[in-house]
Amino acid sequence: MKTIYAVYGDPVGHSLSPVMHNAAYAKLGMDCEYHKFRVIQSNLGDAIMGAKAMGFGGLNLTIPLKETALDFIDPDPLCEAIGAVNTIEFRHDTVIGHNTDGIGAMNALTLEGCVIPNSHILILGAGGAARAVAFQLAKHKAYVTIANRTVERAITLARNVSRVGKACACGLEDITRQVAESDILINTTSVGMYPDINNTLVTADMMHKGQVVFDLVYSPLETMFLQEGNKANAITIDGIRMLTLQGAESFRIWTGITPPVDVMEQAVRDVLNKQ
Ligand code: NAP
Repeated sequence: MKTIYAVYGDPVGHSLSPVMHNAAYAKLGMDCEYHKFRVIQSNLGDAIMGAKAMGFGGLNLTIPLKETALDFIDPDPLCEAIGAVNTIEFRHDTVIGHNTDGIGAMNALTLEGCVIPNSHILILGAGGAARAVAFQLAKHKAYVTIANRTVERAITLARNVSRVGKACACGLEDITRQVAESDILINTTSVGMYPDINNTLVTADMMHKGQVVFDLVYSPLETMFLQEGNKANAITIDGIRMLTLQGAESFRIWTGITPPVDVMEQAVRDVLNKQ
């Protein structure tokens, strides 16, 4: 019988998860289907237990459900530290929560040849995505600096991340020196995301050749942050790579199979290129 997987969110219409997972099932000849469902926060507990009762293979969660889900699942240690769930695994009598965003970001960097231990990484932003990325990279022995518009949020995040590794915080007004001294720059803010496409927190004159410039934003595909990175002869990575790799990690958790990441990524790029 077909195994069903799904992403829950509100809104969820924009989600590209069905495209990438269904492309992987087709390539591997798996009898599975991935769907998206609009689930409001107050129904999340019922929706998770309903999926379990109906034998779903697993779930992804997107905005605004990632934090609320902690009330209904047993988080793994990384998910608990991050305080947000994006992947739910059904195991006999337990429902386990994972967060694969940080792993997706780290794998996007290592695929580009980055060595994470001892690298100096500047994370712009201190929201949900920043939390996942900061914990993952600090845990793997990077020196992480978190710069945020609301500096108090950066300080709180750095303090929490310091439990697993090296992290410090600053405001956005202090980033010129931090940018210059970083091996890797990661934009986890929504600055530059459609329709705010003519904006970036860092410009080419602040970046340098060979630096890695990674944007989590993938709408548009080439953000102004990445355009500035190209002008500075930096190595640029767009948000689709992370999107695909966090999805690939969910796939692996649910099935134990390493999926064809290139097929998943191409399926997503094909859809975005048509938009
Ligand atoms: P979030 O929790 O709402 O955090 C937003 C962050 O952006 C905060 O740090 C906020 O700073 C900052 N920010 C917003 N507007 C700003 C501005 N005008 N100037 C400076 N900073 C600003 O959002 P999120 O869930 O972390 O998502 C952030 C972005 O990452 C989104 O574009 C999302 O699509 C993308 N994302 C991509 C992937 C992927 O797989 N590629 C995965 C997750 C997220 P304050 O704290 O000062 O408000």
